[in-house]
Amino acid sequence: MEKYPKDFQEFLTFFSTENDCWNYIFELRWPDGYSCPKCGSSKYWITDNKLIHCSECEYQGSITAGTIFHGTRKPLLLWFHIMWWVAAQKTGASAYNLMDFMGFGSYETAWTWLQKLRRAMVRTGRDKLSGDVEVDETYIGGIESGKGKQGRGAVTKTLVVVATE
Ligand SMILES: [Zn+2]
Repeated sequence: MEKYPKDFQEFLTFFSTENDCWNYIFELRWPDGYSCPKCGSSKYWITDNKLIHCSECEYQGSITAGTIFHGTRKPLLLWFHIMWWVAAQKTGASAYNLMDFMGFGSYETAWTWLQKLRRAMVRTGRDKLSGDVEVDETYIGGIESGKGKQGRGAVTKTLVVVATE
């Protein structure tokens, strides 16, 4: 079981810097150590702009590649807060709420992100969030088996917040 903050107070101690979030995702994605997606080497170094540089083949990987945060320019720390917030909305977060909370410029952007997050926050085989919701774990890279519920094509390697009722 991955470590996950039990309440918001603990969340703030877990994630107070961008690095905290980066390290957290790193450990979730590569619990047994990093291996280069191109050559499989486990030797790497981290560049100044936080790319994972393979010492063997020079391939540069990104922590967010293949996650829903791929290409985002917003800080991970902000996303972590958003996910916590979305999961904590007992009556469901609305795109308008999210727009205000995130400072998104448009309703469409907020809506798109809310859909992405909602999809990511549903564990395969479990029902969507409803009722009293408590977040209990986060993981990345779950392989979604084709169980039928995943309408819009399987999204693999996604940052997932799992919530229990
Ligand atoms: Zn490599």
